[in-house]
Amino acid sequence: PAGTPRKRPVAAATPADIRITHPERVVFPDDGITKQQVADYYAAVMKWFLPGVVNRPTSVIRCPEGTAKACFFQKHMVPGLKHVGSAKLKEESGAQATYIYPLDATSVLELVQFGVLEFHPWGSTIEQPDRADRVVFDLDPGSNVAWDRVAAAARLVHRRLAQLGLASFLRTTGGKGLHVVVPLNPGCPWAQVKDFARAFASTLAQAHPLEFIATASKAQRHGLIYVDYLRNSRGATSVASYSLRARPRAPVAMPLRWNELGKLKSGHAFDIRSTPRRLARLRTDPWAGIDEVRQDLDGIVKKLG
Ligand code: ATP
Ligand code: MN
Ligand code: MN
Repeated sequence: PAGTPRKRPVAAATPADIRITHPERVVFPDDGITKQQVADYYAAVMKWFLPGVVNRPTSVIRCPEGTAKACFFQKHMVPGLKHVGSAKLKEESGAQATYIYPLDATSVLELVQFGVLEFHPWGSTIEQPDRADRVVFDLDPGSNVAWDRVAAAARLVHRRLAQLGLASFLRTTGGKGLHVVVPLNPGCPWAQVKDFARAFASTLAQAHPLEFIATASKAQRHGLIYVDYLRNSRGATSVASYSLRARPRAPVAMPLRWNELGKLKSGHAFDIRSTPRRLARLRTDPWAGIDEVRQDLDGIVKKLG
């Protein structure tokens, strides 16, 4: 059946087995950050990074010659990857395709060796690709939106979700905005997740028409925050927590505690250099408890009404 991990012998391997070729290659040209530094970054954050990607179908952004040259958004298996899981899943078109998913640290470093900079998992796992265990509200500020408004938007989304009885978690994207993530356990069918995400976004836009817009048209976004609910369908992806972004200064998608939002300055406040320092200082996981949350979407859309 779709979603059953293909029983493929995966050689036991430790990250030490992955040889990084061209370690001195500069992949972030503005910052002089090398491929070896990218590998060292992922090795350093590995225990934080893995829970967000292991056993999730994961698209990757590969920049084999660095961010100044062509980068590819890649969803499917490529020849040569030996330490990465693969599963045949059905595509939107109905056809089957072989998706990749990280198994462990070795998978991650092998992907880095293949030129991967960014990791974008599905909101579901390989065991249950037809059920979501994450809803992501992707807050995308249009032009001319001050940061305080983006932070206030995230706070409002958090509060409205709480009013619906739903716990949610915050992360920077490493780009312009923020993600508010709702864990589901047990998971919900994608159709239910999609309906909820769309209804939540449009209710928000109707209640606050001078702050939010829930339609994807770029032209109308000036001065507004687009509540991008389209991350929530089977096969859609969002950037993984602790993933680097292939943008200047190598920013990082950073999970935060809600009480850190007040002092946050932007969606790219954390980067490859500051992240290991932050993690060394942290005493608890900013998303502590996410795996213990028990909540689903039954009856929720009705409450929005
Ligand atoms: P920002 O805060 O700057 O919006 P973001 O990661 O939320 O950062 P978006 O453009 O809002 O960026 O979301 C794009 C999402 O769509 C990515 O996170 C990625 O998972 C997904 N995606 C799907 N297809 C592609 C593609 N071809 N290239 C890049 N991203 C893609
Ligand atoms: Mn976004
Ligand atoms: Mn978006």
